[in-house]
This record gives sequence, structure tokens and C-alpha cells, in this order.
Amino acid sequence: MTHLCVPIFVHTVEQAISDAVQAAERGADLIEFRIDMASNESIVRDVVARSPLPCIATCRPEREGGQSAYPDDYRTTLLVTARSTGAAYCDVELETLRRWPDAVNLAPPSRLIVSAHDFAGRPAKLYGLVSDLNAAPASVAKVVWTARSIRDNIEAFEILVNRQRSTIALCMGEAGLISRVLAKKFGAFLTFASLSQSQETAPGQVTIDDLKRLYRWDAINANTKVYGVVASPVRHSMSPAIHNAAFDHTGFDGVYLPMLVEPSYESFKAFMETFVAFEPLHLSGLSVTIPHKENALRYLQSKGAEVEDLALRIGAVNTIVIDRDASVSGGAQLRGFNTDYAAILDSITSKLNITRDRLKDYRVAVIGAGGTGRTAVAALAHYGATVVVYNRTKERADALAAEFDGRSGKVVSARFEKLCDSCCHIFINTTSVGMHPKVDESPLDPVEQTSASSVEPRPAFGLDTLVFDTVYNPPQTKLLKQAAETGAKTIGGIEMFVRQAARQFELWTGLPAPADVMRRIVESRLAR
Ligand code: NAP
Repeated sequence: MTHLCVPIFVHTVEQAISDAVQAAERGADLIEFRIDMASNESIVRDVVARSPLPCIATCRPEREGGQSAYPDDYRTTLLVTARSTGAAYCDVELETLRRWPDAVNLAPPSRLIVSAHDFAGRPAKLYGLVSDLNAAPASVAKVVWTARSIRDNIEAFEILVNRQRSTIALCMGEAGLISRVLAKKFGAFLTFASLSQSQETAPGQVTIDDLKRLYRWDAINANTKVYGVVASPVRHSMSPAIHNAAFDHTGFDGVYLPMLVEPSYESFKAFMETFVAFEPLHLSGLSVTIPHKENALRYLQSKGAEVEDLALRIGAVNTIVIDRDASVSGGAQLRGFNTDYAAILDSITSKLNITRDRLKDYRVAVIGAGGTGRTAVAALAHYGATVVVYNRTKERADALAAEFDGRSGKVVSARFEKLCDSCCHIFINTTSVGMHPKVDESPLDPVEQTSASSVEPRPAFGLDTLVFDTVYNPPQTKLLKQAAETGAKTIGGIEMFVRQAARQFELWTGLPAPADVMRRIVESRLAR
């Protein structure tokens, strides 16, 4: 069993006990009292005696990332007090044991955690350190360091897989988040979760509520399949919330995590090589987003992996399926998809109640020539629509139009300022204009003119016009409001976001996606 431990800095007895009671109510089964700043033994005695849960007592010195300026002998005195009052464990640093061998007597080995922390990065002699921790007279070995990159987590997992005694192996910082959540999968002695964001005792700690609700702590076991979103930055991604909710709803044994991978092809490649090869992780699927969609395609091609045709045409992969069928030689087979294109097409066809083949009857204005614009142009042109690309940087619109013109449908470019003259049936905004926090902007706003020519305020939207804004934050953009005022039909970005995620879920699990559940999660998170 892997304990879920909430660390609490002890400032006063009442504050510490109140925090500990809250931790117990939220599902912790162990408390770590950080008595770094306890001014006397009576505070320690009261806190341990009144703890609602079994507890660890820790008095961390400043040299190892703690706040205690006390000399070793006084820190040991505080720990002895905690132990004699009933603390289940005392944590003492390996370094302290080396400096002050008497510290070994503060608790019987069965109640001692011996620990090592490196806030600067991976310890140079990590495996030598682990073997020293294992040789110490303690029952639990703890090693914690700041992840230099997401790949450091794999070493933490290896330490857990090869453990000789109860072990805690965690990485700090944003890149280390997955070691905190997956500690349970690899049978760690415990993971730490903070009571709230402001109460973390080490960088990168997840809150107990997020760990249990967002990251499915209670469902994780040794066989749980691992999925994730590869991005940089990744902190604000909504994908973990919607995919984990879908796993919960369907009872699928998976967990989905944010995976911070630095923005270069080399980083992406190194991530894939390390993570896919580490069998005990059961990495089974990835969402790929900015800035790695092109890197994903390049990597899959370098491996001779199967990539769906439209993803090749678009030049970007946003979904990787990792088949871990035992019959596959080499253990894992990779496949690449782009679920954005189907999401764009299906959002439009379901709103218009037409089949994809009917798109050839429509003129579509695609606003923007970045990644999403490119996907929209490729998808619509593939089904024969006539596409006009409008982009702030005209050269990008020209290049995009030239690339896709004539493949199935006609694709031309036009000046961004001419958007309001457009007589298309469908308008798709694929720029970030109107996105939070600049919610007062719309691609229809007058563009600054170099000439004296006047600009029409709006295109001629009518009841038959469809306006699709791929921006999903806010759900109701200024562009959509402008369109609705004219009676035009509208589609918001949530529609596309949910559809691309639902398709990913289906590719990974083979189950129908609970799209309504996923939609509710997105809407509720955006409403916060
Ligand atoms: P991208 O590759 O960086 O492209 C950004 C596009 O926006 C470019 O065409 C850029 O024009 C244009 N742009 C940026 N600021 C502008 C401004 N102030 N005025 C006019 N044009 C401007 O980004 P992307 O990956 O395509 O994503 C674009 C947007 O799509 C995102 O912000 C997001 O809201 C939306 N999106 C939605 C979903 C979904 O599931 N709903 C999925 C992906 C993306 P230049 O070429 O002139 O720079």
C-alpha cells in the first residue's frame, strides 16, 4: 500500500491540528509534521499526541531545503520527543546521520526514514546514494531531487521497481509531477500531497484534491495504463481533467498526466525513446500539442510508424497510440493520427446536418494560417470545399493556399483587410484573436489601414451563414456574439476541443467516448 501523506508545517499547535484534521477529511492516511520551526518540545508533544492520523516527524535543516536553523543535537531532541509521544516515523537525513551518528538512536530502525534531498538537480551519484540509503539502519529509504527534465522521473521509477526496502523516490518541480502521481503504480512507501496550493512544502507538490479527483489516485494500481499530453508549457492544459473524467466514467483503468517536454525535436525524441521503452510504465497513448505536433510526425516517420493520411498531408500529429500487445515485436507499436481535422469537419457537418461530401457546395473563409488554419484548410479542401485563406501575414496565407489549391477543392488567399467583404457561407476563426484575456477583440474588428480606404464593419452574415470560432476560452467569443446578432449559426471552440479529445479516447480505449461528460468538464473548468 502506498500512503497518501500530507505534509504540514507546524507554526502553532492549533493550526497544525486543524490542518491535519482537514487532511484526514480529504483522504490522507498519514501526516508529516514539519517541526522545523517548533520552538520547544511541548509543541511537538501536543501536535503528535493530538494528531488524527499516524504521523511522521521531520525537522529538516536549511542545508537540505528545510527551515530549521537548530543544531543537530536539538533537532534530534525534538525528534526523540515526537517519537516518544507516538509518532509512527521519524525522518532523518543521511547527511545528519553521517555528521551526528548518535541520531540513529532517536528511533528504532523500524520507525526510521532515512532521506536525501537535492534541490539543485539530480544527485551526481544517484545510485551510490540509493545504496547508502539502503545500508542505513532504517526501514524506509527516501530520495528526492529536482527533475532536470521529465526523463528524470524514469530513474525515480527504476529506483522504486528495484527497491530493496520500502522506498520513497520523487522528483520535484513541474517536470516531476508524474513521479508524485505514479508513486502508487510503482509501489512507493508514500507520496506527498499538499493541503492547498499555498501550503506545499516542496516545489511541484500536487494538492490532495487534485491527486484524488483530477489524477484518479484511488484507481491507480500496478497495471494502470498511462496517457498524457506532451506540451510546453503544459500547466494549464484541460486535457488531464477531461480524459481522466472519461476514464472514471467508463471505468477504464488509465490515468492521464501533463508531460512537460522542452520545445525541441531532440527533447521530444529523447522523451519518446525513454518513456516508450520503459515497459513497467505501460505508456499507452499521448496527446501532442504546441510545440510538438510537427516533432511527433517527424519522430513517427523516423521510426517507420503508421501515420494516417490526413495527418501526413497536414504535416502534424496530435495523437499517438502505443500498442503494447505482447505479440508485437519490440514490445510497442506506434501509430500517429490528427484528430483535429475530423473535429473541425464533424463540428461543421453536424451543425449543417450534411455529409462531408456536401462540403464541395460551400465557400469557406479560413481566418488564420497557423497550425489550426492549416488543419482546417487541408480538411476542407480534401472534401472539395472552396476555401479562401485570410491571414494577418499575407505571405503565409499565399503559401498555404498554394500548397493545397487544386488537390480536391479550390484554395485561394485574400488580404486580411478584405475579410469583411467576403461572401463565404462558412467562416472559421483559427487565429488566437478574441482569446482570453483579450476577449474584447474579434477578427472582424477594423484593421488599421495604411491607405484611406474605408472598411466594411462586418461581412454579410445571414441566416444561412455559419460562423465557427475555434477559440474556446471564452466559450462565447466576441466574434460569436457578433455572428449571433445577425442570426447566423454559430459553433464555439469547445465543440472542436471535445470532439478531438473524444476521438483520442476512442483510439486509445476502443470504447465509445462519453462526450457529454467531457463537455461538462470543459464547460465547468472554463466557468471557474
Ligand atoms: P499558431 O500556429 O501560432 O497560429 C496563430 C494564427 O493566429 C496565425 O495565423 C497568426 O497570424 C494569427 N494571429 C495571431 N495574433 C493575431 C492578431 N493579433 N491578429 C490577427 N491574426 C493573429 O496557433 P494555432 O496552433 O493555429 O492556434 C490558434 C488558435 O486556435 C488558438 O489560439 C486556439 O484558440 C485555437 N485552437 C483551438 C482548438 C480547439 O480544439 N478548439 C485547438 C487548437 C487551437 P500570423 O501568421 O500573421 O502570425
